[in-house]
Amino acid sequence: MVLRLSTLFLRTLREDPAEAEVASHKLLLRAGYIRRAAPGIYTWLPLGLRVLRKVEEIIREEMASIGAQEVHFPALLPKEPYEVTNRWTEYGDGIFRLKDRKGADYLLAPTHEEMFTLLVKDLYSSYKDLPLSIYQIQNKYRDEARPRAGLLRGREFIMKDSYSFDIDDDGLEASYQAHRSAYLRIFERLGLDIVPVAATAGAMGGSKSEEFLHPTAIGEDTFVRSAGGYAANVEAVTTVAPRDIDFSGAPAAVVRDTPQTPTIATLVDAANAIAPRYSGPWTAADTLKNVVLAVDLPTGERQLVVVGLPGDRAVDLKRIEANIGVYLPTAGEIGVEAAGEEDLKKHALLVKGYIGPGLSLDAAVLGAEGTTKLLYLVDPRVAAGTSWITGANEAGKHVFGLVAGRDFGWDGTIEAVEVRAGDEAPDGSGPLEAARGIEMGHIFQLGRKYAQALDLRVLDRNGKLAVVTMGSYGVGVTRAVAALAESNHDDKGLVWPRSVAPADVHVVAVGRGEEIFAAAQTLAEELEAAGLEVIYDDRPKVSPGVKFGDAELIGVPTILAVGRGLVDGVVEIKNRATGVADNVAVGAAVQYVLDAARR
Ligand code: ATP
Ligand code: MG
Repeated sequence: MVLRLSTLFLRTLREDPAEAEVASHKLLLRAGYIRRAAPGIYTWLPLGLRVLRKVEEIIREEMASIGAQEVHFPALLPKEPYEVTNRWTEYGDGIFRLKDRKGADYLLAPTHEEMFTLLVKDLYSSYKDLPLSIYQIQNKYRDEARPRAGLLRGREFIMKDSYSFDIDDDGLEASYQAHRSAYLRIFERLGLDIVPVAATAGAMGGSKSEEFLHPTAIGEDTFVRSAGGYAANVEAVTTVAPRDIDFSGAPAAVVRDTPQTPTIATLVDAANAIAPRYSGPWTAADTLKNVVLAVDLPTGERQLVVVGLPGDRAVDLKRIEANIGVYLPTAGEIGVEAAGEEDLKKHALLVKGYIGPGLSLDAAVLGAEGTTKLLYLVDPRVAAGTSWITGANEAGKHVFGLVAGRDFGWDGTIEAVEVRAGDEAPDGSGPLEAARGIEMGHIFQLGRKYAQALDLRVLDRNGKLAVVTMGSYGVGVTRAVAALAESNHDDKGLVWPRSVAPADVHVVAVGRGEEIFAAAQTLAEELEAAGLEVIYDDRPKVSPGVKFGDAELIGVPTILAVGRGLVDGVVEIKNRATGVADNVAVGAAVQYVLDAARR
């Protein structure tokens, strides 16, 4: 069916909608692909649905190519399975919860690990049934704290989520690699530039995990890569810790008066004035900065944590958020921020600007506070034997030559500081450079966590019950539409890659003559008969300027204009992406467009 603009359910907008900031969001609204229903929740219009369906089809084909089978779960789910895995609590405010008329708790699924696990448990019982990969393309609901940029971060969005089930680790690795290669093909076919990066498993648990990031300035993820091929989300970068240093010959630590030195810069100046160093001036890197953070747990509690790091580095809250889970009493969605005045007041021993670790291992000031023990974590650079200038836990005093492992201890190490361009890649493959990206997909080796919790066991080769090992793999389908729009537009509108464009060709009848409309209509029908998807602007009383403006805004790859040239037997065919236009004989037009579409 030729889509006729005279009847298509579409209203394009001249002005940028006030609600939109990023280009993709503005253009998808202006070109009539989506409408906002509520914050982070969108309605799909006919053109948008066409793009969405194409993205889904590419994903379906590639899932089929690795033998994954499609199923479809409800989005409205009972609470119980999520209680078993503790995610009912862990998700905190991140999920939409509701009750039925009998008062039973339900949720709108943010992701479906539990349900898939239970489904396989329901139906399968032997290693002979495995491996199995099943998936769905389905709505997900997350009450995101900051829904953003239209479809990029919605509160309702579509995800393709697959899950693999294997009897052993080798099987899981094979299923994981199959998904990984399918993902690379999906993004290649979508025309989305992708960098696979090492990732942290976050709230999911499990071990190996990679994200597929689309590099773009508006991305919320920062990743780093080296010329030697290392690539990681900054949250997942591991610091190469210096080797432990022998501190047997190190002099004893000395407490010195350092009035009015609450910042690292003032402290460094004071250190160079009162205790100059023989081997060269003190720098910020010689100081140990102790930052107090407030962690909001999924249970609603707020816990203070102190993190020690070299004074020349800044804390990276997102990295801490991603990595602090192992030290917290409850897993799940947490928030980390700098502690405020109110938080600090609750801990009398914390002297702002002069906070240090304990002065001896057995009398650690941090952590010795009766009922409110503070967790003390350090950056891996604070290795045993390293010596620091740091706060003496007394206003106006710092301690010099405080040796890690001799004069103070810690509860653990954490990746806490900003990764800088120029830092060495952990695998020695060269200095890192930083870029921003949007997470388009994420693959995890979940391992046995969910299968264990929900008791998914099957008989193994020896007739014994064995816990199944799982992988979980997601692609943001609606997010892909937004990312494609973001990376394929110009100042006139959208410029869709052919693989997902709502049509192959946009025929425009320009002018008033009946013969123009007749010829345009015939061409539209012939193009359609040749197997192309056609939009035909047959609106009788709309000016050429508006029609061309709409064609550029909608962004179909080929624009075919039937107008003044018709008296000479030619039409104009334009490539939306390059702007290159050719005059083509009417009789050759269909073939020309077909060739362009196949290129
Ligand atoms: P993010 O870090 O962006 O919040 P996530 O780590 O929560 O994403 P996953 O749980 O791994 O995401 O979900 C799989 C995929 O679903 C993501 O890679 C992303 O493409 C997509 N996705 C996640 N959250 C949203 C959202 N709020 N809106 C649109 N797509 C999303
Ligand atoms: Mg993720």
